[in-house]
Amino acid sequence: MNKKIKCVKIVPGCISCGTCEVTCPEVFEVKGVAEVKPNPDLQKNADLVREASYMCPVSVIQVEEEE
Ligand code: SF4
Repeated sequence: MNKKIKCVKIVPGCISCGTCEVTCPEVFEVKGVAEVKPNPDLQKNADLVREASYMCPVSVIQVEEEE
């Protein structure tokens, strides 16, 4: 079973490509640069959040997994 996600954040360096928003629009929004939406359902969207992190061309989406 996949671990739960504790939190997700976007560190500086986003190039506004839009991939994360397309991959997981319930969690990510690109307003100039990408942001995490307020109070996203990280568990429901866990696989898509991991996919967005993997797909980000500049690797600025950091996913913290629960222990
Ligand atoms: S995938 Fe990465 S570079 Fe592209 S908009 Fe999202 S955070 Fe920014």
